[in-house]
Amino acid sequence: MAGEVRVNSEIRDLTRIERIGAHSHIRGLGLDDALEARKVSQGMVGQVQARRAAGVILQMIKDGKIAGRGVLLAGQPGTGKTAIAMGMAKALSEETPFAMMAASEIFSLEMSKTEALTQAFRKAIGVRIKEETELIEGEVVEIEIERPTAGNVSKTGKLTMKTTEMETIYDLGTKMIEALTKEKVQAGDVIAIDKASGKITRLGRSFARSRDYDAMGPATRFVQCPEGELQKRKEVVHSVTLHEIDVINSRTQGFLALFAGDTGEIRSEVREQIDSKIAQWREEGKADIIPGVLFIDEVHMLDVECFSYLNRALENDLAPILVVASNRGITKIRGTNYMSPHGIPIDLLDRLLIISTQPYTEKELHTILEIRAEEEDVELTEDAKDLLTKIGVETSLRYAIHLITAASLVASKRKAPKVEVADLGRAYELFVDIKRSTQFMMEYQEQYMFNEVPEMEDAHA
Ligand code: ATP
Repeated sequence: MAGEVRVNSEIRDLTRIERIGAHSHIRGLGLDDALEARKVSQGMVGQVQARRAAGVILQMIKDGKIAGRGVLLAGQPGTGKTAIAMGMAKALSEETPFAMMAASEIFSLEMSKTEALTQAFRKAIGVRIKEETELIEGEVVEIEIERPTAGNVSKTGKLTMKTTEMETIYDLGTKMIEALTKEKVQAGDVIAIDKASGKITRLGRSFARSRDYDAMGPATRFVQCPEGELQKRKEVVHSVTLHEIDVINSRTQGFLALFAGDTGEIRSEVREQIDSKIAQWREEGKADIIPGVLFIDEVHMLDVECFSYLNRALENDLAPILVVASNRGITKIRGTNYMSPHGIPIDLLDRLLIISTQPYTEKELHTILEIRAEEEDVELTEDAKDLLTKIGVETSLRYAIHLITAASLVASKRKAPKVEVADLGRAYELFVDIKRSTQFMMEYQEQYMFNEVPEMEDAHA
């Protein structure tokens, strides 16, 4: 009995261990059909202008209007830049790739900076490959045939038959109907099948236009033969990214590297071969390119060589939409002594559409914190919510978000169902925010190692 109880509680605990990410409450951009931002929707609060702008960009991506453009999300820390990028990712169709990275990730010992950027770009370019299925002799295939829609006519139907040789679905469909009607049936012809007797009458192509279905009586089913090029063959469509194709084709790595994430450098010859193969497939109508989105957070961490790479990469006609974010003002461009807005060289900045995010009002902070608490399954009293908002205003949104979990642990220790003001107070004492931490450093600086604070003070003096 006791054993059972333990097992049960283990199961319960396991189901509860579900990691909640910083942006897990974001489910989209929260826009209506006219691309206007709803005040609170899909986990998104306020930041209306920026969300609307992001929505316009999304629409352009969906319409296939922009390739090789860039967008900069600029604003103070914690103003929702990453949240907006996540919202964009959620709003894209599953086929459209969205690759996300922090600029610092390119500094790795395993690969050069340009290789890391190339991989990131290729992760954001989708390829839709249309594959024609081969029919094997004797295989039973199902064929879906469109039927006219009206009155008693059903929309789609499946017919099954055995193949006799390697054939296309179109031929098969025609053959089957031929067999049924003992007549030569053309693409676009309509066939009437009497439901009771199974008797088949060929009504011809013009019947599809006249749509005089009622003339045949209610017990008749109509089948229209497939028409046009597209319906000739059965297609299977695969969507992959260029990066996935690179990895699978790179002999040193093999496709298992896709799971390990440890892809190393990919030789440029491999990429060249893949690019020319895909260009050929595009010409033959076998493949389409879907430019996706590459999001680079903390873009000021890139250096001048990377920026020059981005400038050039954006000119490629296969380039994805580049979305970058920065919380820096005018600062040094990494790798140079030049200052520039957001640490981005002017020539690249000039190519970017800039979306700026604004600090939140107290009311908006209140709503964001409420949404986060709900996401983390934490209940707060109204007073506690107000206090948490005040803390958010005085310190930062992120700090206030962190306090939710900490305070809920304090509350659960005293077995309280809701977080109260006192629990928040306790968590606030246990974990200091940046302001208090800095103040503490100033007071006790001598006791720290490598203390450089006096110099900074001199500089200010
Ligand atoms: P930084 O410049 O420091 O990287 P940021 O602008 O990228 O900051 P986020 O990480 O997006 O800020 O925001 C901090 C937290 O607040 C995240 O958990 C985010 O999901 C949440 N958040 C920010 N803005 C909103 C919003 N408008 N609606 C809902 N949640 C938000």
